[in-house]
Amino acid sequence: MSSAQSILQAVFGYEQFRGPQQAIVSHVIAGGDALVLMPTGGGKSLCYQVPAIARQQLGHGVSIVVSPLIALMHDQVGALHEAGISAAYLNSTLSYDETREVELRLQSGDITLLYAAPERLNTPRFLGLLDDLHAQGKLSLFAIDEAHCVSQWGHDFRPEYRALTVLHERYAGVPRIALTATADALTRADIIERLRLEAAQQFISSFDRPNIRYKIAEKKDVTNQLLRFIEREHEGEAGVVYCQSRKRVEELAQTLVQNGINALPYHAGLPQDMRQSHQDRFLREEGVVMCATIAFGMGINKPDVRFVAHVDMPKNIEGYYQETGRAGRDGLPADAWMAYGLSDVVNQRRMIDESPAEEEFKQVMRGKLDALLGLAEATDCRRVRLLAYFGEQYGLGPASEGRPLQAVARTECGNCDNCLEPPALWDGTDAARKLLSTIFRVHEASKLTYGAGHIMDVLRGKETEKVAQYGHDKVSTFGIGKEYSEPQLRAVMRQLLATGALGLHKVVSENSGHVFDTLCLTPGSRAVLKGEVTVQLREAVAASRSKKQSKKS
Ligand code: ADP
Ligand code: ZN
Repeated sequence: MSSAQSILQAVFGYEQFRGPQQAIVSHVIAGGDALVLMPTGGGKSLCYQVPAIARQQLGHGVSIVVSPLIALMHDQVGALHEAGISAAYLNSTLSYDETREVELRLQSGDITLLYAAPERLNTPRFLGLLDDLHAQGKLSLFAIDEAHCVSQWGHDFRPEYRALTVLHERYAGVPRIALTATADALTRADIIERLRLEAAQQFISSFDRPNIRYKIAEKKDVTNQLLRFIEREHEGEAGVVYCQSRKRVEELAQTLVQNGINALPYHAGLPQDMRQSHQDRFLREEGVVMCATIAFGMGINKPDVRFVAHVDMPKNIEGYYQETGRAGRDGLPADAWMAYGLSDVVNQRRMIDESPAEEEFKQVMRGKLDALLGLAEATDCRRVRLLAYFGEQYGLGPASEGRPLQAVARTECGNCDNCLEPPALWDGTDAARKLLSTIFRVHEASKLTYGAGHIMDVLRGKETEKVAQYGHDKVSTFGIGKEYSEPQLRAVMRQLLATGALGLHKVVSENSGHVFDTLCLTPGSRAVLKGEVTVQLREAVAASRSKKQSKKS
């Protein structure tokens, strides 16, 4: 039996390594650098814990685990203690004396695994300790957990992670293993560059979570949609509902409670003791529904979360995947449910446009938003698309692995809404052209830009006060989109905004001082106006269209 195998059994009580763990562990014990991409629940911790123990036994000294998650440090150090392994952590929760004690233990070579918050790597004091250990050949391994935090393209950029280049420069020759549960191609490349892992071996697991059923619905009355979803499919079960704003978290938690659901709010603006107690209740009690911002969830390991719902659209697919990944860690069926609408796309676009970031960065963020909207508006298998985003062909495993010749990529998973109830496509190209023409014409007529409501009124030929006021019943496109319903046009606008064929222009009202988002053309509008780009939409829209038409006739 290899030493890795015996550590797995004796210390952790597991029979077998899972998936790529064996290969990773052997590689790292032998002193190789590694980049590990493995979905949540895949078993990343063992990939550095087993090598740390093995290398300590071989006389290499202490392994340093860099982690941003204080809760995770506590849990893991506690579990390692119970298994008889000497572990400790250094983070902001320790007193001066406690810190000193850990430092002394570290110097005396008593610690096998030391967990440290990334900002430690910036302190001369901690680096001094590492220097001493390094000089004695007692610095065994660096494990960098949540490695996507180093990348500004990732969904959880932490500037402190940038300091981790020091590991490579100052302690050359000490092996490093970086781990993350999310990384699209761009983030992955950034991790490699920032952490200087060009020569590291990459271990990429399949990102498929077969027990999670993906469902994405158009927003109508999202609170009621959510209530129905919970009542019909998850009564009395634990779940997380992600909202964009703190205010929304509190309102929604209250509404759920009023409807007999055991819900609690969680966001970074709540007092620390309340957050802690809500988190504890979520973990210990059965069937608690946590309404939360994305501040909730990292490092929380609750196996029986039966659903994750998004009542607002996240920023990008990585965020969506990470958050939905908290469902069903026990392998039993779980739901990932999301509702999205035009307002989500407008909000997200605005946040990007208004951020102080550089244009290049904004462009990337828009591309990522577009990809998520593409997933939302898709009419084919959600899983196939989700995995493709992470560079994986469904049924074939991760792109980097060798695969049998006869293997064929699958096009359907049978466990997402689109596979279970295939929607039809509706061609929105004509509606898109008419919409853009209307925006052009009203701007031409009045030299002003307008919000979605007014544009739709002009397009659908509604004689509103505002239409009369601006004389927009005289523009040539007035009423040319009569056959389209508002939901249809909203779907068209979402698509156009996400692809950049439609832009937002901020207008401040002279009377009220309110700020409005108005619609304007962009360089990307041309191709749609000229009919060079087709716009495909989901059937839900087409259905309401045909109903309307048959009513008329
Ligand atoms: P991740 O960090 O990738 O989300 P963890 O390291 O927390 O995953 O592991 C997820 C769960 O799987 C944990 O409960 C862990 O004990 C368990 N686990 C990991 N590896 C194995 C294995 N080889 N055999 C059995 N259980 C394992
Ligand atoms: Zn599917």
